Amino acid sequence: MTRIDDLPIREELRGKSPYGAPQLDVPVRLNTNENPYPLPEPLVERIAERVREAARELNRYPDRDAVELRTELARYLTRTGGHEVTAANVWAANGSNEVIQQLLQTFGGPGRTAIGFEPSYSMHSLISRGTGTGWISGPRNDDFTVNTEQAEKAIAENQPDVVFITSPNNPTGTAVPAETVLALYEAAQAAKPSLVVVDEAYVEFSHGTSLLPLLEGRPNLVVSRTMSKAFGAAGLRLGYLAADPAVVDAVQLVRLPYHLSAVTQATALAALEHTDTLLAYVDQLKQERDRIVRELWEMGYEVTASDANFVQFGRFEGEGGAHDVWQQILDRGVLVRDNGVPGWLRVTAGTPEENDAFLDAVRELKKEQEQSA
Ligand SMILES: *Cc1c(COP(=O)(O)O)cnc(C)c1O
Repeated sequence: MTRIDDLPIREELRGKSPYGAPQLDVPVRLNTNENPYPLPEPLVERIAERVREAARELNRYPDRDAVELRTELARYLTRTGGHEVTAANVWAANGSNEVIQQLLQTFGGPGRTAIGFEPSYSMHSLISRGTGTGWISGPRNDDFTVNTEQAEKAIAENQPDVVFITSPNNPTGTAVPAETVLALYEAAQAAKPSLVVVDEAYVEFSHGTSLLPLLEGRPNLVVSRTMSKAFGAAGLRLGYLAADPAVVDAVQLVRLPYHLSAVTQATALAALEHTDTLLAYVDQLKQERDRIVRELWEMGYEVTASDANFVQFGRFEGEGGAHDVWQQILDRGVLVRDNGVPGWLRVTAGTPEENDAFLDAVRELKKEQEQSA
């Protein structure tokens, strides 16, 4: 049998594992930060209508520049993000992962480096690797906040070409204050100009506001967003960025022609017509997220303050302690996420019923622990 490493693959890919959140068939899946609510029926109808229209022209390539979609995304950002942007400031791709890939192909690459403050979203380092960009793991405080001074120092020492700031952060849920982002932007411009990417995949779930207004006067700042979480459309694969128009022009150098299919564009446009309905689900999920935090806390678990649609909880002592608990929760029919952060697990806010199932499972575990102690 031929193994991957028998193939003439790139050296830096040898022995590595692909991104792999388990896709298991269990009753309650709270492991990939998806929105638990299926799209409402009127939106499903509207998608069918718009896709039908698009299908009549599938013999043609789609709008390469996705102008109508970028215009509507800009309208959404302007309405909700506290900063006016236009289609010229916005670029869209197949998930924000592709946005990040295009940014790294443009601003990273062989001989260049990117830094992130870990634990954070594993795809930042994986896409760096895939694009031949060296990865630097920057520090965080023990409470998972970004330590501004240490982060500034790491940037000054390493002089990365790309800086990732995930706010709210995955898997911890931690928001990064605007002052920190500004300080790190300054640090990243000090030695040589570097691109600073603020990944706001979860910002709609935040107690605070978007960092979008920081774009003003900062041409090397990018805010990336996605329809996978708040819009409940992970299956759609639509991510986007807002930045100076020059950044949008720069990523054209690497994007594949016609990368965003006509079907994707039509579906995303339909979803944007239903923004208000979808954001009402977000409000419910925020309340459920806060309830999970509160109840876990009351049970005696440690909980990281969350501005996202998930909650990091622990602490589970000992080597593999978190993984054992992950398995015990799974045995009770609930799939959560072991992100490999020692001592901690992550649970996505689901429907009230799903959250009850999770909370019942961990309450039971806590009781058993106390009885055996
Ligand atoms: C889920 C997630 C994304 C979204 O990726 P898509 O490709 O848009 O589905 C981006 N960034 C972070 C931090 C995430 O957790």
